Amino acid sequence: MQEVFKGSFTQQEPIPDAGIDAALAVLRHGRLHRYNTTAGEISETALLEQEFAASVGARYCLAVASGGYAMATVLRALGVKPGDKVLSNAFTLAPVPGAIAAVGAVPVYVEVTESLTIDLEDLATKLSQARVLLLSHMRGHLCDMERLMALCDDAGVRVVEDCAHTMGAAWKGVPSGRYGAVGCYSCQTYKHVNSGEGGFLVTDDTDLAARAVMLSGSYMLYERHLAAPPKEAFEHIRYETPNISGRMDNLRAAILRPQVADLETQCARWNARYARLEAGLRDVPGLSLVERPDEETIVGSSIQFLLLDWPAEAVRDVIARCAARGVELKWFGAREPVAFTSRYDSWRYAPSAAMPATDRILAGVVDMRVPLTFSLEDCDQIARIIRAEVGAVFQKAA
Ligand SMILES: *Cc1c(COP(=O)(O)O)cnc(C)c1O
Repeated sequence: MQEVFKGSFTQQEPIPDAGIDAALAVLRHGRLHRYNTTAGEISETALLEQEFAASVGARYCLAVASGGYAMATVLRALGVKPGDKVLSNAFTLAPVPGAIAAVGAVPVYVEVTESLTIDLEDLATKLSQARVLLLSHMRGHLCDMERLMALCDDAGVRVVEDCAHTMGAAWKGVPSGRYGAVGCYSCQTYKHVNSGEGGFLVTDDTDLAARAVMLSGSYMLYERHLAAPPKEAFEHIRYETPNISGRMDNLRAAILRPQVADLETQCARWNARYARLEAGLRDVPGLSLVERPDEETIVGSSIQFLLLDWPAEAVRDVIARCAARGVELKWFGAREPVAFTSRYDSWRYAPSAAMPATDRILAGVVDMRVPLTFSLEDCDQIARIIRAEVGAVFQKAA
């Protein structure tokens, strides 16, 4: 009998009791809107922003309706206009080109390396085309952030970090989201904290933070924030910045506060699972793991491996055989977008030049979610199944 994995790849853990209790308190008083406070009361949303800013060492933090909203708001606050070009990763997910499209701008894609990070050589050749890079730390992989910042600073390109997969991660000890001008995060169910939907942006830039607060729909109530610039920063921009509502509400903030406080513990639990999967997938002929550099503090909420230069049918065969044994793998080489997985050439609203290096990687990259509901033994079993099926297909092909 072949072993079959019985767990669910999409089941997250329940909301912690502290979050449930806080959410019930908000429901009982009924003041869900972030600016609906009684005299002297500080909203859950304002407290959440203060706590998240402190956790990454940022001056300012704004909580918003989604990660995609955070990114589009930042692009708007940076003055990106319809028709402007914005640099971004060819290997990422749909909310990234979507945020660029939301402001009428046009993505210029940068190739991906075998380390699954942005190709800095290719980036260097394209920097003169844009004022902004929307850098996606796709699947949690961080590039050499010091080199990237040096390149972008020299070219006068502002860096916006998409940290949807790197909340809690760091490069040389500096939290992801703190190298660029702004860091954007997602609190969607499949990310590192879960309020269903939600997002953050963090920055030290006073003007940018003030514009983002106004854009998010603060009306003239920005003084009720704890992690926003002082009121002088709003003096002029409050007349010229449109209200494009995308606020966080107190119910979601109440659910998130205990999760932000607990993030480090959760990251360690993800990494324990990642380590077991990685160990179980070592030295499989034909399969390359993505080696993680010493400078990187990872959060192993997903794992990727490459079946590099395999024929498409063989990769498809591996995915199907693993699926038959309960192991859900995602493949970026499929021609048609499936569920959450799509690729740069499926985003027809943002057409791209040919990306040969990226095409080669996408044809071989296999991705797997690692929810915290998996036990360490589950991870061992999943690795055994992948190992066996990759081995069987590889042997057949040889
Ligand atoms: C999830 C995600 C986002 C943000 O998504 P929202 O659903 O808008 O919160 C941004 N970038 C990537 C790569 C993502 O996977």
